[in-house]
Formats: sequence, structure tokens, C-alpha cells
Amino acid sequence: MHEMSLMESVIAIVCETARVNGASAIKSIRLDVGVLSHVNPDSLLFCYEAVRRGTIAEYAALEINRIAGEGWCLDCGETVTLDERFGACPDCGGHRVQMTAGDELKIKDMEVI
Ligand SMILES: [Zn+2]
Repeated sequence: MHEMSLMESVIAIVCETARVNGASAIKSIRLDVGVLSHVNPDSLLFCYEAVRRGTIAEYAALEINRIAGEGWCLDCGETVTLDERFGACPDCGGHRVQMTAGDELKIKDMEVI
């Protein structure tokens, strides 16, 4: 389950950031998770419960924002909505679509005490 290692990295980054800023605890963490990434939000939450124990993020609320998939269709010359990683263009049905959004997993922001 790669959500576990992802979550371990997230916790490591937020704890280090909080420490550098002299915070005593983390209140909340917000993540951007693209719908085209191979990350399951439910698994992320599950792993979060396990990973945060004993850290200063132990009582932090985790919020997951889903980012919609987007691609650039070379044939239409436009940004189009993508429902799957290598999906066809919804306008022309072509497959020359480059994914531009929806694959991310990043820490959007965090609140510390
Ligand atoms: Zn197109």
C-alpha cells in the first residue's frame, strides 16, 4: 500500500516544518489529491490515523481536497476535462491529450499551535 509511505512523508514534512517554526502542535493539514493520481483518499485517511500517533500531528485534522483532472488536447488546442489518466479528449475523441492537472499529491497548507 503506497499510501502508507506517502503519508509517512507528509507527516515527516509537516512535523519538520512545525519544528522549524517553533510550533508545539499541528492543528490541521490540508492535502491536494488529484483524481487521476493513484491515491485512494480513504486509504490515505486510514494510514494517517496510524502514522500520526506519537507525533506532534497526533491531534491534527486532515482535510483532503480532490483536484479535478485536466489535459491539453493537441488537436483542439484547448484545455479539456480528463476523467482518466490516458483518457480521450471529450470534445474530439482524440488521444493526443497531455495531462496537466489531477495527478498531484501535495501539502496545500497547515495550521500550527
Ligand atoms: Zn480534442
